[in-house]
Amino acid sequence: MPEMKTSEVAIEKTNLLGLSAVQLGDFFESVDEKRFRGTQVLKWMHQRGVVDFDQMTDLSRPLRDKLHQIAEIRLPIVVRQEDADDGVCKWLVETGSGGCIEAVYIPEGDRGTLCVSSQIGCALDCSFCATGKQGFNRDLTAAEIIGQVWIAVNALDGFGAQSRRRVTNTVMMGMGEPLLNFDNVVAAMSLMMDDNGYGLSKRRVTLSTAGVVPMLDKLGDVIDVSLAISLHAPNDELRNQLVPVNKKYPIAMLLASANNYLAKQSDKRRKITIEYTLMDQINDRPQHAQELAELLVATPCKINLIPFNPFPNTEYRRVSNNSLYRFKEILVNAGYTVTVRTTRGDDIAAACGQLAGAVNDRTRRSERYRDAALSRDEQRKNDLSDQQVVRIINV
Ligand code: SAH
Repeated sequence: MPEMKTSEVAIEKTNLLGLSAVQLGDFFESVDEKRFRGTQVLKWMHQRGVVDFDQMTDLSRPLRDKLHQIAEIRLPIVVRQEDADDGVCKWLVETGSGGCIEAVYIPEGDRGTLCVSSQIGCALDCSFCATGKQGFNRDLTAAEIIGQVWIAVNALDGFGAQSRRRVTNTVMMGMGEPLLNFDNVVAAMSLMMDDNGYGLSKRRVTLSTAGVVPMLDKLGDVIDVSLAISLHAPNDELRNQLVPVNKKYPIAMLLASANNYLAKQSDKRRKITIEYTLMDQINDRPQHAQELAELLVATPCKINLIPFNPFPNTEYRRVSNNSLYRFKEILVNAGYTVTVRTTRGDDIAAACGQLAGAVNDRTRRSERYRDAALSRDEQRKNDLSDQQVVRIINV
């Protein structure tokens, strides 16, 4: 057999796009370069949108050559951009292995919010969510998560051109459950907030979760972002039907964890956003609103009501305007700040819960996730951390 020449050995290049500032510093140190090279490259990628080492003019030629050998800056590929009549913009992004994800830009006055996906599909199977109905495929890498922000900023204002269409806020409310892809989501969110990255303030970066309590317990130790909880029901009986992960981590546990998260924040005035999707005759009755008002009495929060967005083959219907008004009024009278999320991007299926892409749950990972979640106590006995459990479930 002929001997393989060294030059023929395929070297797996490190994709620098998804590395946080610390990780980039570590990378440069590991290849015998100064840590500050990481900051330089970070600025090129995320402040100036430059993804070609040859254009990074403050790096020496030998260093650029070295980077070509060992590293790459690989963006996810945009399959399609769709523009809705109301200014909403959706990017369909190819992920290579079995599916697309979507990122959605929602302009509103001076604000421009980018809704970012964290997984291909979702394993939590919330009964009213189109993504959940498609099943789970895989976690996104940190590069694929921050890549959505890069793609949006590049398309909207080309990194710095004077434009009113800017990304001022990000919400992890696209496809997937961000807390089940913890490390990659944390790395990507830290890039969103890094002064050398996208420079968004912690109030403008929001993680939304259906309530994976063990991960929420850890979140506050590693990052300080705004928190949204997808509650959708004022009691466990109803929430078990709508958000099955509630059977594992019931409401009292979830709210306690959310309050602990707030307690870890430096700014004691921060509030949690409670998301409540209103479905006709399901969770929109006045007694539900009253129960919700009592439930949240000890939780500093504002409540965001989301009229249900229908999708094909769903059994649920949108809340009526009367019920929505009445529901809101009960909460307002109880002293809560209540906002109603207007449906945006409807004509391009970019509204909440309509992000499905072409995901197939080929390997029945959703079932495996649920089975594993149910036997979590068993796994605990084996002395595995929840993070490890989640990793195992996701491979
Ligand atoms: N998994 C995370 C983030 C993704 S969903 C979470 O559950 O928070 C973003 C928000 O849209 C969640 O509050 C979700 O429950 C809500 N949602 C999902 N499907 C919806 C639908 N069909 N209509 C309205 N809101 C929906």
